[in-house]
Amino acid sequence: MTLSMELSPELVDYATQLEEWAVAVGRPLARDADTRHARPDDWSRILDSCPVPLGRAGRGADDALPEVPDGKWIQALAFHESLNYGDTWMFGSLGNGIGHLVVEAMGTPEQVSRWYDPVVRDGICTGFGLTEPQFGSDTSLVATSARRDGACWVLNGVKLYCSQAAIADYTTIFATTDPSAGPEAIAAFVVPRSTPGFVIVKENEEKLGMRSWMTSQLSLEDCAVPLENMLGCSADGQLATRRSGRGGALAALNNNRPNMAAIAVGLARASLDVAHDELLSRRFGFTTQRWATVEQEIATMRAAVDRGRRMTYRAQDLVQRGTPDRTISAMGKAYAPETAERVIRRCMQLLGPDGSSHDLLLEKWWRDCKILDIFEGTGQIQRLLIARGLMGKAAG
Ligand SMILES: Cc1cc2nc3c(=O)[nH]c(=O)nc-3n(C[C@H](O)[C@H](O)[C@H](O)COP(=O)(O)OP(=O)(O)OC[C@H]3O[C@@H](n4cnc5c(N)ncnc54)[C@H](O)[C@@H]3O)c2cc1C
Repeated sequence: MTLSMELSPELVDYATQLEEWAVAVGRPLARDADTRHARPDDWSRILDSCPVPLGRAGRGADDALPEVPDGKWIQALAFHESLNYGDTWMFGSLGNGIGHLVVEAMGTPEQVSRWYDPVVRDGICTGFGLTEPQFGSDTSLVATSARRDGACWVLNGVKLYCSQAAIADYTTIFATTDPSAGPEAIAAFVVPRSTPGFVIVKENEEKLGMRSWMTSQLSLEDCAVPLENMLGCSADGQLATRRSGRGGALAALNNNRPNMAAIAVGLARASLDVAHDELLSRRFGFTTQRWATVEQEIATMRAAVDRGRRMTYRAQDLVQRGTPDRTISAMGKAYAPETAERVIRRCMQLLGPDGSSHDLLLEKWWRDCKILDIFEGTGQIQRLLIARGLMGKAAG
């Protein structure tokens, strides 16, 4: 067992270069992206200016993340923390979505080669359609229906907050084939954007934070897809894999949660550094007692953020070693965003009215951070997972 939290010199060097670029190039564009609810028009060219690879799919070896001794799971944490230390808009523009991860988790080999491989090879973009007007957390409540009609499945329902769905090549839609049969009847369907009946109701929903991150509202109106578009099925509609659509959804979400905690750590650290510099510039106007309070608060908050980072690194270290622990992973996701949100709020408070002004990005980061406590599993749901991990089903 090792208790070392040291990153390799290679990873430190990579993360430092990424962070410096994110602050110098990405951060100045953050306010505009937030106000316009959209990433900058020339976002792709801006991302190309990064001096280190960003790991974008479809770019081949040129943009592949460097191999580091720490392993890919730890590298992902350093990546998410350093990039979002600059601001969140770049992260929202980088990804290819997560719909294809469901294909990877539960598709047949033919489906993987048809719908997953092009994402890695060509960088096509995919959407993930799970959330509906009456639920998000409890995946067993899916009400969108899938009715068999000859050689097709016909989908009907409404989906909310589907990341990038308005621009994705296809969206993986979760629907029930039999509402009376419970979670086992939930299946996942690949729905290309051009399919008749796949209607984008609103391209980007208006949100408190992460505003430039496109989340679309969809309506499925007698939307017919061939039998082979149901994941896990062969071309004749026979079930070839055993995992339910719900299992595929959860598999796609699980591995990403520590990365969301790392984003929260990056935002909290950025806020602390900005607040610290601002407060230092005002120090001589403060009484000794007021300055002592500031120092104590900053010290307490830095320790809290460091605890969030340690939990998240511990969770991914276990994944790296091949012994993942869902409870520890949930602890990081439950703790880091909520703590970061409190830290940023406190930083704003320490700066008085300037803390909430648009001259600084603290109020934006606070709004962005709140979202991290909601998507990819809310804080309450993570605490439920922790309780179940510790107490079994007695936890409810
Ligand atoms: C930027 C962004 C991107 C998103 N991207 C996607 C996407 O790509 N695809 C997609 O499908 N969705 C996406 N979402 C939606 C997101 O996943 C949901 O908002 C989230 O799962 C919570 O669901 P909900 O909002 O429906 O809340 P609900 O599930 O209705 O929950 C409401 C409240 O009740 C609490 N609660 C629920 N069940 C329990 C319980 N058993 N015990 C205790 N408390 C409980 C929750 O914690 C929450 O506080 C995105 C959201 C945002 C903001």
